[in-house]
Amino acid sequence: MRPLRDIDIAYVKGIGPKRAKLLKDELGIATAYDLVYNFPTHYVDRSNVIRIIDFQGDDMPSVQVRGHFVSFTEHGEGAKKRLVGLFSDGTAAMEVVWFRRTKEIRKAYHTDTEYVLFGQPKQFNRRWSMVHPEIDLPQAVTASAGMRGVYHLTEALRRSGVTTRNFMAWSTAALTLAVNVPEVLPPDIIARRNLLPLNTALWQMHCPDNLAMLERARERMKYEELFFLQLNIQRYSRKRTPGLLGLRFPRIGQIFNNFYETCLPFALTGAQKRVIKEIRADMNSGRQMNRLLQGDVGSGKTLVALMSMLIALDNGTQACMMAPTEILAGQHYETLRSLAAKAGVSIALLTGSTPARERDEIHRRLLDGSLHILVGTHALIEDTVQFRRLGLAVIDEQHRFGVAQRARLWKKNSDLPPHVLVMTATPIPRTLAMTVYGDLDVSIIDELPPGRKPVHTLLRFDGQRQQVYRALGAELAKGRQAYIVYPLIEENEKLDLKSLEEGFEVVKDNFPHYRVAMVHGRMKPAEKDWQMQLFASGQARILVATTVIEVGVNVPNATVMIIENAERFGLSQLHQLRGRVGRGGDQSYCILMSKLKIAKDTRRRLDIMTSTTDGFVVAEADLKMRGPGDLEGTMQSGIAFDLRVASLASDGQIVEMTRRDVEQILDADPSLQRPENMKIASEMTMRDARRPKGYSLIS
Ligand code: ADP
Ligand code: MG
Repeated sequence: MRPLRDIDIAYVKGIGPKRAKLLKDELGIATAYDLVYNFPTHYVDRSNVIRIIDFQGDDMPSVQVRGHFVSFTEHGEGAKKRLVGLFSDGTAAMEVVWFRRTKEIRKAYHTDTEYVLFGQPKQFNRRWSMVHPEIDLPQAVTASAGMRGVYHLTEALRRSGVTTRNFMAWSTAALTLAVNVPEVLPPDIIARRNLLPLNTALWQMHCPDNLAMLERARERMKYEELFFLQLNIQRYSRKRTPGLLGLRFPRIGQIFNNFYETCLPFALTGAQKRVIKEIRADMNSGRQMNRLLQGDVGSGKTLVALMSMLIALDNGTQACMMAPTEILAGQHYETLRSLAAKAGVSIALLTGSTPARERDEIHRRLLDGSLHILVGTHALIEDTVQFRRLGLAVIDEQHRFGVAQRARLWKKNSDLPPHVLVMTATPIPRTLAMTVYGDLDVSIIDELPPGRKPVHTLLRFDGQRQQVYRALGAELAKGRQAYIVYPLIEENEKLDLKSLEEGFEVVKDNFPHYRVAMVHGRMKPAEKDWQMQLFASGQARILVATTVIEVGVNVPNATVMIIENAERFGLSQLHQLRGRVGRGGDQSYCILMSKLKIAKDTRRRLDIMTSTTDGFVVAEADLKMRGPGDLEGTMQSGIAFDLRVASLASDGQIVEMTRRDVEQILDADPSLQRPENMKIASEMTMRDARRPKGYSLIS
């Protein structure tokens, strides 16, 4: 019996050093462990044979057909040489094409024999074809009937002749070498949850006996994956939670009441009231608050943050609010000042571009306590920034801040850490929030202020730009403002800038009577601020920008958001951008401009945007389409989601199950020191070591 992690794949039967290198480069598969945990992406029922006449669509999955070769012909010369077999199943014919090993293939297959072909049909010029299908005799297929895995292949793997059948053979060879893969889950859980043993499950994942066994194997692997994820998160959050005493804020005092009675410009929504109550209770519990405030764009989180800060002030402490960019910090500063100035609260702004003299003044006033609220960028966490007593730290749009930065805030006071409120507009589905924020409590603002009209979202193609500009002209004539956003292609900043600047010229040419502002990430902060200010004040009616405006910017008079090359954006990014309009009482529009020809998935993404304005629906769809690994808003947790079988979107039940099971284990043995828990502890450590760099769980 050999541990899978100790077996180099070069020694697995059929791989050898050359392919071992290719597998490592292409898929990161280096050991037998990697190989057997590299599961098929989907399965095909081997008893299911499709008729060629029934082929349809331009995105067919791999299928099986059964029939005869009618003829073989060779085409082209040299590198372009290919072998084409005409294959008929009696209902219709298709071409089978080979680019490599044509001589061997020509010898191996005959026109008088029946074959079963397995491959992906493609249509060119109304003719169906299959490239390098897998070919079997009918009896071989019947013998291995049942489900058959299809593995992910890259272009380079395909080119070197690697097939999905190779993967199946290699995986089973690796399992044979290992003899019997030992169980990694506790035996009582295996029994209680009625899970397949690991060794059996791995075999079934690669060569399932039937659909029922495959389902059980998948269930088992999902459980395992989520179990170790939960173990990691919960062990981490427990380290922090129990011991941390916090400041106690029993008072609702003059500052809060004064603000509530005389400064509050509108009635709070029900959700805002509820959340403020939750925060208030938390800050008076005697434990440090670590709360995530989640609310769709425009739901009024800033106000909640402000009122929470006023509670801190009422209890003799100071507060700070940290934003990811200077633009945002500046906006928060303006908003908070205009709201709270009348309540006698002193507020200052600190960013990287604050002049030294002002900075010194801020440092001084923070220490003597005459400055109540400090707003700023990550400049706030510098060690030189010392408070007299920091009671609450608010972090906006936290996906740009890591756990480590949060931790630095905790150290601002010498005795008790400040309470922490993290605000996010990225709506995170419940299952995910539960998993990602194991260490945070969650408050949700699930109600928009009254009178908001949902943003009309339209999909338009590049050929319709003049129409779109005409509609934009009509809105501008009504006195409104508009954003026009260009995508950022990170690999080539120069090109990005070029497309933005060209767009800027086109927009100016089309709207000569309006002032047009422009911001992008490579501008100097002062220039950026100036341009933003032009737009925020209404002097500029159009803002041409990259996604720097994605988060937080608040210009209620802007009613049009045009997103160029919308096909290049992810769903949650589109949703964030759309949230920049629809913030006043007027009907707003979001126009997604796209190429006419786009991939199916992209089209589906854009269709979701035009069909709903509900951030949660968008987030769920995003999660399903892209998988949680990519989801914005998951990075800050420091956890890399390397889920292969489980899906946080659809396996909520198993997430819940593992959460409870892990809770039980840690309740009994918090640091996993009992002999019966040694195995899961070391397995967890081993899995943790495999995470990509920069994502370590504990910072
Ligand atoms: P976000 O949650 O996206 O940060 P903001 O806090 O920027 O949202 O609020 C969006 C807009 O809604 C702001 O212009 C704010 O003044 C306004 N707003 C917030 N709360 C209310 C309310 N209860 N009633 C009416 N308008 C509100
Ligand atoms: Mg905001």
